[in-house]
Amino acid sequence: MIFSEKHELIRKLVRDFAEKEFTSDILDELDETGEFNWEMHRKMAAAGFMGTKIPKEYGGQGSDYLSYVIMIEELARISPVLSLYANTSNSLGGGPLLLAGNEGQLQKYLVPAAKGEKILVFALTEPGAGSDAGGTSTTAVVDGDYFVMNGRKTFISGAPMADYCIVFAKTDPSQKGARGISAFIVDMKLPGVSLGKDEKKMGILGYPTCDVILEDVRVHKSDLLGELNKGFANAMKTLDGGRLGVAAQSCGVAQACLDEAVKYAKERKQFGRRIADFQGISFMIADMATELAAAKELVYNAAVLKDKNSKEAAVACSIAKYFASEMCNRVAAKAVQIHGGYGYIKDYRVERLYRDARIMTIYEGTSQVQQMVIAASLLK
Ligand SMILES: Cc1cc2nc3c(=O)[nH]c(=O)nc-3n(C[C@H](O)[C@H](O)[C@H](O)COP(=O)(O)OP(=O)(O)OC[C@H]3O[C@@H](n4cnc5c(N)ncnc54)[C@H](O)[C@@H]3O)c2cc1C
Repeated sequence: MIFSEKHELIRKLVRDFAEKEFTSDILDELDETGEFNWEMHRKMAAAGFMGTKIPKEYGGQGSDYLSYVIMIEELARISPVLSLYANTSNSLGGGPLLLAGNEGQLQKYLVPAAKGEKILVFALTEPGAGSDAGGTSTTAVVDGDYFVMNGRKTFISGAPMADYCIVFAKTDPSQKGARGISAFIVDMKLPGVSLGKDEKKMGILGYPTCDVILEDVRVHKSDLLGELNKGFANAMKTLDGGRLGVAAQSCGVAQACLDEAVKYAKERKQFGRRIADFQGISFMIADMATELAAAKELVYNAAVLKDKNSKEAAVACSIAKYFASEMCNRVAAKAVQIHGGYGYIKDYRVERLYRDARIMTIYEGTSQVQQMVIAASLLK
């Protein structure tokens, strides 16, 4: 894609920020401790990253999806985990509010999230309802002016730091499958809300993930988000945009892998020559660059379709996520291979990138779920 001057400028600004601020000391600390870096969160908020895609009247920058994917790609090129810091408010956290929030809810919850003053997360997955998210068993039962919520949400990114959580719960058990589900904004300080243990993950360390447990939590009716029993459509629409974010993240990680592989192939000598001079290595690099270029075009195209509010956007986001996340894993595996034994050692960047890449085909809908969405759009 040929970008406008505006989009080129956004890329440059984000790239300069990430290259300057995401120092190797900070990245090592995130990976070693797994702890959230509040100082970086505040810096990224001050730079306006938390509200890139949120309208100006709600505290954001009012940019388009194309700007958003460029931002995520550039942040993830230096740090996939820090790209998540900027992703949640723009995507899974803010998305449901933008789709269905009333003015009071937007002012109360979206504005502080867009400014990075509050953290808002998204809780759809349950222990028994992952890919089959419509099989949610969390319940919300009316009691006067309140809904009483019970259930357990699992793998919730950012839950340990969250102020608010968008929770999807069954409000009409007589309706089967994904029907009869509603969305709620749950204040994490409400009595009855607790957290599971911090998950010990393979990658993206430094953005903690845990379960959210709801035991007789009384949520006021004013915190019902959107129409009663119509929440699942909101979750699915939010995930379209979320998938685009993961696709952009995948491109950033793959770009980092390619950059590292090119650099190393030119430095490392075996049999008296640079390994880059062996066709076995140079062709791997050619394949990595080709797949990455194709994935980027899919991502930018899906972003433009989202900006146009096109009917094709949802499936384009699934296609972009499916291809880019699988591509990212292939490229990361080749980057490690090109590094030989050193690629398996933590001192080399590709070791971490390889671990970080692995989540891309899993969260916000596995590759198999994307295949289901793509196939269903063709075979209905
Ligand atoms: C680090 C991390 C962060 C996450 N963050 C969040 C979050 O913030 N909020 C949230 O709500 N969720 C979050 N998730 C959950 C994530 O979206 C789910 O893990 C994912 O959707 C898959 O669900 P599952 O793990 O239950 O796998 P399952 O659904 O049990 O799938 C297991 C395997 O079966 C396959 N499969 C399932 N059904 C089918 C089918 N019909 N056809 C073919 N294959 C199928 C899957 O593709 C997969 O390979 C996160 C997960 C992780 C690991």
